[in-house]
Amino acid sequence: MRKHDVVIVGGGNAGISLAARLRRLGAHDVAIVSPDRPHRYRPMLNYVAGGQASMDELTRPAASVVPDGCTWLPTTAVAVHPEQRELELAGGQRVGYDDLVLATGLEEDLDAIPGLAAAMDAGWASTAHLETQAERMWTAIRGMTRGRVVFTVPPEPSPCGGTALKPLFLALNHWREQGVLPAIDVQLVTPYASVLDLPFADRRLEPLLTAGGVTVHHGSTVGAVDHQARTLILDGAASGLLIDDVDHAFVVPYYRGPAWLAALAAQDAAGQVDVDPGTMAHRSAPRVWALGDVARLHTRPSGGALRRQVEVLAENIRARRLGEPLACYDGYTIIPITTDRQRLFLAEFDRAGAQQQSTSLVDLTVPRRWLWVFDRYLEPVIYFRSLLKGRLIP
Ligand SMILES: Cc1cc2nc3c(=O)[nH]c(=O)nc-3n(C[C@H](O)[C@H](O)[C@H](O)COP(=O)(O)OP(=O)(O)OC[C@H]3O[C@@H](n4cnc5c(N)ncnc54)[C@H](O)[C@@H]3O)c2cc1C
Repeated sequence: MRKHDVVIVGGGNAGISLAARLRRLGAHDVAIVSPDRPHRYRPMLNYVAGGQASMDELTRPAASVVPDGCTWLPTTAVAVHPEQRELELAGGQRVGYDDLVLATGLEEDLDAIPGLAAAMDAGWASTAHLETQAERMWTAIRGMTRGRVVFTVPPEPSPCGGTALKPLFLALNHWREQGVLPAIDVQLVTPYASVLDLPFADRRLEPLLTAGGVTVHHGSTVGAVDHQARTLILDGAASGLLIDDVDHAFVVPYYRGPAWLAALAAQDAAGQVDVDPGTMAHRSAPRVWALGDVARLHTRPSGGALRRQVEVLAENIRARRLGEPLACYDGYTIIPITTDRQRLFLAEFDRAGAQQQSTSLVDLTVPRRWLWVFDRYLEPVIYFRSLLKGRLIP
């Protein structure tokens, strides 16, 4: 049986960044278990859905992002055996580890909204959150000249769910420029009492939604969709409300932790791995850690949050071996939101939803053109050239 010093499950933003960081810190035997699927810079999916980027721009072959010096096992993990310190792979082989890091991301749960999968197959629903759907979303937005559309913000946990507002504002701006916005009834379903339950961001978003003529259904989620009847039924505060005559539904699916990790997950519906939200160490399985979207860190998951998580976890793997005190992740996370086709602002906050600005030099909650340029054009370069290479960006 093969064995590695550190085994990381998942070759997404979290797994690759951590592997590269560990290599930079001198770890010499790091293995990544992840299937041979294209690696995507997922924040760009919203720009694909808004007609501002192509899928090619955010896609790299998996092999090209594996850090130098790491072993890549291009397969899927299916079980963890913590008592033997072994990871089981598809096909039944086992890999031993000294430290195991779970970085599998969340899985979309299309069946949690009855009718959604069929509606997507039929082309009546789409979402930027699925890589197979992002281009279709732009096709639907571009083709719309009149009628009714519904957008959603997903409940947590979700991969940076608040960014579902990005294609909404890109679409509003596009329809305004085309002169068709007055003929389109736009509705938004959000699980929050306000737009995102982040007061410093909501005060920017609310006037923009009003100006766009958007009807907001607060405290609500989508309970079911029916593409043949062209309807959505809501749950939550607007429970039972039927939105009819819908021409296209931009619905983000619900997400949960992978079923195969249930034994290591917290006993709640989200199914995220039950780690200490500060140290990222599993609460009961020794030498098992988790980071990224799959980890139960009591904060809204995002790629931006990973910058601090990677730094803390790389340090903690070393510290635990030396018997030193462990560092703590403070829960920082981020939601970048485009307010039109050339401006964007950043909502940066902590576990409690309190604003946590990364700089005091400029107010990043003011929509600005240079922030849009940064998010659309510079962030992907920083991602591939620095973050996936284990370099720390403040
Ligand atoms: C549409 C969209 C827009 C976003 N916009 C932003 C943004 O603007 N800003 C921001 O900060 N964040 C954004 N995010 C969130 C960000 O992309 C995620 O937080 C980030 O990708 C999480 O990384 P991860 O590695 O934890 O999970 P993932 O990116 O999901 O990667 C998980 C990896 O694990 C692999 N894997 C899964 N199961 C197994 C298994 N059983 N065995 C082996 N490997 C496995 C997968 O193949 C994948 O490679 C966005 C996400 C989406 C979807």
